[in-house]
Amino acid sequence: MEKLKNYINGQWVDSHSDQFMNVVNPATQEVLAQVPFGNGQDVADASAAADEGFQEWRRTPVSKRVQYLFKLKTLLEDNLDDIAKTITLESGKTFLEAKAEMIRAIENVENACGMPAMMQGEFSEDIAKGIDEYMIRQPLGVCACIAPFNFPGMITFWFLPYALACGNSYIIKPSEKVPLTMTKIVGLMHQLDFPKGVLSLVQGGREVVDAILEHPVIKGISFVGSSNVAKYVYSKGAANGKRVQAQGGAKNPVIVLPDADIDMTTQIVIDSVYGCAGQRCLAASTIITVGDHQDITESLVESVKTRKTGFGLDSEVQMGPVITAESKNRVNHLIDKGIQEGGRVIVDGRNVQVPGFEQGNFIAPTIIEDIPLDGELAATEIFGPVLSLVHIDTIDEAIRFINSGRYGNMACVFTSSGLNARKFRHEAEAGNIGINIGVAAPVAQFPFSGWKDSFYGDLHGQGKHAVEFFTQTKVVIERWLKEWNRKF
Ligand code: NAD
Repeated sequence: MEKLKNYINGQWVDSHSDQFMNVVNPATQEVLAQVPFGNGQDVADASAAADEGFQEWRRTPVSKRVQYLFKLKTLLEDNLDDIAKTITLESGKTFLEAKAEMIRAIENVENACGMPAMMQGEFSEDIAKGIDEYMIRQPLGVCACIAPFNFPGMITFWFLPYALACGNSYIIKPSEKVPLTMTKIVGLMHQLDFPKGVLSLVQGGREVVDAILEHPVIKGISFVGSSNVAKYVYSKGAANGKRVQAQGGAKNPVIVLPDADIDMTTQIVIDSVYGCAGQRCLAASTIITVGDHQDITESLVESVKTRKTGFGLDSEVQMGPVITAESKNRVNHLIDKGIQEGGRVIVDGRNVQVPGFEQGNFIAPTIIEDIPLDGELAATEIFGPVLSLVHIDTIDEAIRFINSGRYGNMACVFTSSGLNARKFRHEAEAGNIGINIGVAAPVAQFPFSGWKDSFYGDLHGQGKHAVEFFTQTKVVIERWLKEWNRKF
């Protein structure tokens, strides 16, 4: 059985920890590898190497730094299928979903290739007689990413290409549930010959996270995961004087207005709810119909019934398993909770059997209708293939319900009325808004926004926010003696 290693100072090394966890294929329970639960010494080693690598990397011109990224883009494209297969094997999502996630990762590499222009400073001549003032952007130093399980490849790329292009060195801490994808990607990046220490990977869980939060050399932390951990990382990192951006959990509502196109809405909503088995921070979770709801309800039910659940490498399959057996139990428990609260299961995916994959963590698409708006299910992130369907009389009530929630990652509306769409865009409290869009995932040049308990910090991942996050501004005010003496 392969025991995964850390990547530090340009080479693969054993973790100082002797504790390991199995990396499991969620469709079969096959053990794919063993990942070490790294410790503080691993982080200390990576930080020391990263600090040294930073001294060379920050002096490498940005135009030269992005040459590594151009090569990285090609490398990722050339190895797309292989990376996607690894994503499917360790996370369960379908091969097409895995490829799509890597395409999103590559878009961020492409965007960061524009860094020579993106990180340019500003200059004002003669802010007073003979005095010029300018602002330059310099890298922070050593930065780190702590990633969740649901996008084993993409999420690190919301940050890594920008961090490197800005001149920082970078430490990756993948989710211990899906460490194989980033291990593979870092293995590929090794071929690019970055100066030693510029790129590190430390395997592990909470102990590694705590060490990252405490290590004085680490200046910037990008976290993505559940809200409680995001809040913990944000507060502890900030208390230790670090710059932190922490993206948290979500419970994404979608309003379907009576004038929405039923066919388009059905298709997009179903993809949004059940894509990646609902394990997406942008998955639609609660569908709120306004006014007459019979047609859309029937259409959703019909469409769901044809969706095929199974092993992600089977090309017919549209939805894979959830990540772990515990996760499956948790989702089933939440469905039970919804029933206790008065909801009715109108499509039940709980007892699905996938021939040949009897041990997999499968739950087929499920719809539960009429859950109470003030109940536990309506407020809880399910992170599984469950659509909660609720019916409300007016758009105002629907927006009030959305805004009463703890999260603010995404909210969508389906309508053919520009006026209602505008009202929704203006009033809904969420950082990513979809109008006739099911998964409002910003492309690389826009910030991956998020409000309320879905985000702690100021600057988001991707785009210009990433440039702000990974650089610190230095303002220089300058006067020269000859100018001082000059007669004006
Ligand atoms: P998680 O919070 O359990 O883990 C995320 C990372 O934090 C992992 O690397 C893990 O090792 C570490 N971690 C876990 N518990 C910790 C603790 N107590 N102390 C310190 N570190 C800890 O999240 P997950 O289950 O891997 O991912 C799913 C969650 O991520 C969902 O809530 C989902 O909504 C969220 N998510 C959010 C976004 C977004 O953009 N807002 C994107 C993807 C996923």
